[in-house]
Amino acid sequence: MAYVPSPSRYQRPNLYQRCGRSGLLLPRLSLGLWHNFGETHAYEHSRALILHAFDRGITHFDLANNYGPPPGSAERTFGRVLAQDLSAHRDELIISTKAGYDMWEGPYGNWGSRKYLLASLDQSLRRLGLEYVDIFYSHRPDPETPLEETMGALAHAVRSGKALYVGLSNYTPEQTTRAAKLLRELGTPCLIHQPKYHLYERTVEKGLLTVLAQEGIGCIPFCPLAQGLLTDRYLQGIPADARAARDPRFLKPEHITEHKLTQLRQLHELARLRGQSLAQFSLAWVLRQPAVTTALIGASKVTQIDDNLGALLNPHFSTEELQRIDAILAS
Ligand code: NDP
Repeated sequence: MAYVPSPSRYQRPNLYQRCGRSGLLLPRLSLGLWHNFGETHAYEHSRALILHAFDRGITHFDLANNYGPPPGSAERTFGRVLAQDLSAHRDELIISTKAGYDMWEGPYGNWGSRKYLLASLDQSLRRLGLEYVDIFYSHRPDPETPLEETMGALAHAVRSGKALYVGLSNYTPEQTTRAAKLLRELGTPCLIHQPKYHLYERTVEKGLLTVLAQEGIGCIPFCPLAQGLLTDRYLQGIPADARAARDPRFLKPEHITEHKLTQLRQLHELARLRGQSLAQFSLAWVLRQPAVTTALIGASKVTQIDDNLGALLNPHFSTEELQRIDAILAS
């Protein structure tokens, strides 16, 4: 059936926030295509997730060259939905992709050389069926390539019209400061940084968030739900359709320990007192940071997207609540 976007998609209050000191507005939740969009998933289901998000005002979709499986197939899936349903809405979308991890054989299919980044971007554009992406990222710092070369490749992507903005992912505070200076000198300010941040992974609080605020760079934390752990998904065991059962490459069943479950049940109770699901609570906790522009969620069901948007209804935490959370996590 021909897709017609919801006419009310832009009516949710307070959904958009400026990304750092740029002019770009991003929705406070963005949808990532790392899981559930590869060839191993039914196309119609992946399509429904993308269109449902767009219908709810989620305008930002995050990809990378290697998302699948197999690598490249999430970009192909998104390209197919773009062509089939969203081509008339390209200018309402912020589409990002990245290069930095293992993508093709030989010495030029990985890390941060100019050769790899620019060839990978061309491949991504072909898979997506696009002339340009909105954001192109260096997916991880490369200890063996001069930062000048990697940042030069990002700036070239913008100058050549194949990306509108550039971003960094998994860079330390020191690397980010250096990279931001180089990019400024090249006339392509860094738009956004994509680090891992959730209740169990708080490294960004030790310097990165301060650097991003100082540099005027937006922040889009990935895995804000710890791949589903920080939701009610695992409170009663591991459901057969959950990530830890279906695709345990990254979220392994052995990570879901009794100790974690005890903490999760306490967090769940705190969430209930705030009138939130555990997923909403975990997202609101990440979004409470002034430096955080948008939380980069994944979803396997459309109902999860709706649940997660509910996080925006109760964004504030009292000092007592934050102390209680810290005490639970330290227990
Ligand atoms: P999340 O931490 O948001 O985990 C998503 C998973 O949580 C879903 O697949 C689902 O699990 C579960 N879930 C989501 N909402 C709910 C809900 N309301 N109730 C119950 N369960 C819920 O993020 P991801 O790990 O998926 O990562 C998000 C994105 O971050 C990626 O798609 C990618 O774009 C980016 N990323 C970037 C990286 C980088 O190095 N830059 C690295 C990793 C990710 P289930 O499938 O079990 O239902």
